[in-house]
Amino acid sequence: MDAAKPTTAAPHDRARPLAAGGTYPARDLCSHCGLCDSRWIAYVRRACAFLEQRFEAMEQQAHGRSRHLDDEDELYFGVQRRMFTARLRQPLEGAQWTGIVSRLGVRALETGLVDAVLCVGQSDHDRFTPVPRLARTPEEVLAARVNKPTLSPNLEVLEQLPGSGIRRLLAIGVGCQIQALRAVQDTLPLDQLYVLGLPCVDNVSRAGLQTFLESTVSSPETVVHYEFMQDFRIHFRHSDGRQETVPFFGLDTPKLKDVFAPSCLSCFDYTNAGADLVVGYMGASFGRQWITVRNPRGEELLALVEDELDTAAVSSRGDRRAAVQQGIEAYDKAVKLPRWLAEVLGWLIGRIGPQGLEYGRFSIDSHFTRNALWLRRHHPAMAERHIPAFAQRIVSRYRLPPVAAAPPPGAAVAAADPGAPSPRPGGAAGGSPDPQRPDRLECSQN
Ligand code: FAD
Ligand code: SF4
Ligand code: SF4
Repeated sequence: MDAAKPTTAAPHDRARPLAAGGTYPARDLCSHCGLCDSRWIAYVRRACAFLEQRFEAMEQQAHGRSRHLDDEDELYFGVQRRMFTARLRQPLEGAQWTGIVSRLGVRALETGLVDAVLCVGQSDHDRFTPVPRLARTPEEVLAARVNKPTLSPNLEVLEQLPGSGIRRLLAIGVGCQIQALRAVQDTLPLDQLYVLGLPCVDNVSRAGLQTFLESTVSSPETVVHYEFMQDFRIHFRHSDGRQETVPFFGLDTPKLKDVFAPSCLSCFDYTNAGADLVVGYMGASFGRQWITVRNPRGEELLALVEDELDTAAVSSRGDRRAAVQQGIEAYDKAVKLPRWLAEVLGWLIGRIGPQGLEYGRFSIDSHFTRNALWLRRHHPAMAERHIPAFAQRIVSRYRLPPVAAAPPPGAAVAAADPGAPSPRPGGAAGGSPDPQRPDRLECSQN
């Protein structure tokens, strides 16, 4: 990938990672993807997902074309060759779902497809503190299984590439990380790059996660795993094996109003547009994973594990639209439901609500409308150029509250009815506009 490298030093050869305590170029919108913690900060102006939206160019570069906006599946889920649902016939103990992602990483190393896998381990003292690493052995990939549901500086490990002997890399990551990676891909000292994406929404800082756990679950210190599931409940697993579920609609939203990271409140890359292959769950029925193959490289990756999968076609049931519209209004009014009502609604919506791909569209609609409104209220001058064309089209299908009618600081973000967006925890200080932050983002880096 550096074959065409000029003889003069490239910008990243002259650059240094951001100094400790330095201001990240995207300021409050920074998702701490890690790029600026590497010398590839040299390209931050065009690489950062929060300084410049470049979905069409990225899709063109990665897949040979941008998504067809008139194709409903591509409008929602991005460029694709095929989508289906799957589970590993022998699920991987301790994985987030059945472990398709980790198994793919293991097979990529075992077969010699790549020299290393960029994945996210956990710190020695905290299961939820992410530690990105370049795994060189199957054991290291397996040790990184399960989500660390917090912002992770994955791209800081680019700094370790020069001189490492790694020429072929499989990168696992969420959308903002992959957008930056794609933008600097051609400058990396690599011969091959494969990208395995995870869908992602409403991520949190470690402090935000703590707020979420403490306000939601019986014993936060024993939680080892959780997921927002397609049955409209959050499923927690504790270290003693105990399972606990909480309906989305029963979250303590007044306490959670500030936990969403500003990056994630301005993000429209839910389905990871730049990845070769995406492995999530939200378009699949309960208990299964959801696979989107975007290009031939994605097929190549999938072939590593396809004979180990129990697969099924994607399905879709219900009609999300009225629920999304009601949810937008309820969310804006910030109503909190009593637990008994949340339980009843959760039970009901789990039976008659959207399922399969329609659940995926429900979640995308709910989050895109919320994020568009957040941007228009908090960063009005940049909002329209920051919202990509596919998201603009989706958002335009709904009636949004007036931009000027932002809830007062301190108002709760709540899910008041079956249509409310699934609240997922986020980072710190999500809802507060930053009066210091310019609406046209500028940075001092190249
Ligand atoms: P495992 O085999 O358990 O592997 C998990 C992989 O995740 C590991 O390789 C690890 O490197 C990587 N990882 C862990 N933490 C992070 C992190 N913070 N950043 C980047 N990579 C990480 N799917 C949906 O369908 N809808 C969602 O809204 C959604 N939100 C997500 C939010 C986050 C922050 C993350 C990390 C994932 C999210 N996913 C979402 C993906 C989903 O939860 C599963 O990770 C995915 O289906 C793979 O499951 P698995 O059992 O195959 O993964
Ligand atoms: Fe933050 Fe953007 Fe730099 Fe990533 S590229 S660390 S999101 S400023
Ligand atoms: Fe990055 Fe978007 Fe996920 Fe936030 S929601 S961590 S900005 S991909």
